[in-house]
Parts: sequence; C-alpha cells; structure tokens
Amino acid sequence: MYRVRVFGDPVLRKRAKPVTKFDEVLKRTIERMIETMYHYDGVGLAAPQVGISQRFFVMDVGNGPVAVINPEILEASSETEIAEEGCLSFPEIFVEIERSKKVKVRYQNVRGEFVEEELEGYPARVFQHEFDHLNGVLIIDRIKPAKRLLLRKKLMDIAKSARE
Ligand code: ZN
Repeated sequence: MYRVRVFGDPVLRKRAKPVTKFDEVLKRTIERMIETMYHYDGVGLAAPQVGISQRFFVMDVGNGPVAVINPEILEASSETEIAEEGCLSFPEIFVEIERSKKVKVRYQNVRGEFVEEELEGYPARVFQHEFDHLNGVLIIDRIKPAKRLLLRKKLMDIAKSARE
C-alpha cells in the first residue's frame, strides 16, 4: 500500500518523467499501486499520486487492472461529454468535467510492449484523467473559475492536510 498524495503536495504539479526501465521494481510498484487503488475504491491511480514522478498509471474500468506506461493520446475526438469525476487526491470532491468522448491512445505495458487502443466513453474519460496527472494537470484546472471558488474552503482543508 502507498499513501496517496493529496492536493497541495508539490509532486502532483510536476511533469512526470518517462519510464525507461521495465524491470522488477516497476512491476512491484505497479502491483502496489493496484492494491492501493482498490483499497480506496478508485478506478485509476497515477504514479505522481503516490509520490513517484514517472509517466505511468493503473486503471480498472471493470475488466481487471491495466498498467499504462509512457502513454500518448494520438487523437482526441472533438465530440465531448460532461460527467462527474472524483480523484483520490481530492477526497470528497466531485466535479463535472468536459472531456473528449473518444481517444486513440498508445502506451507500453509492463513488459515494455507497445499497445494501441481506441477508447470511448467511461474508459476514455478515466484514461484522460490519469494522463492529466502525468502532466501535473488536476481536476480543478478543468472546471470554471466560479465553481473553483465555491470549492475554495474544501480545497484549503485538503491542502492543509497535505502539509501534515
Ligand atoms: Zn485523479
């Protein structure tokens, strides 16, 4: 299990570095992240959220856990959808976010093999959310300033807990 870093922790704002070694350490880290994701009932967890500033994440949208390493979004549909999202780094905050409905993606699996996929709907949303984490982008960056203002108190409380 890992401790999940919450909003206010600087690691969440860093641009993560590419993974270069597909070794046992990476495998064990991914297993531990999957365990952490399930423990918190999450559907995705990015490495920066456990303090590791590298470009990978785990997700499970109902078909079992998947490790996504060095991901790229090759194409994103101009057609978008709005849906509510939460984030383990923002406990008890849920916000509506507009994202592309479909994405074409490429990434490496735990063995370093390249995988190309087209995702639509919920899996596409989760992928985009986790991908954002690798660039230091968070859910509050994707909402309107007025909405962010309404969340100010909650955000300050979370940032305070990040320093404890
Ligand atoms: Zn998140």
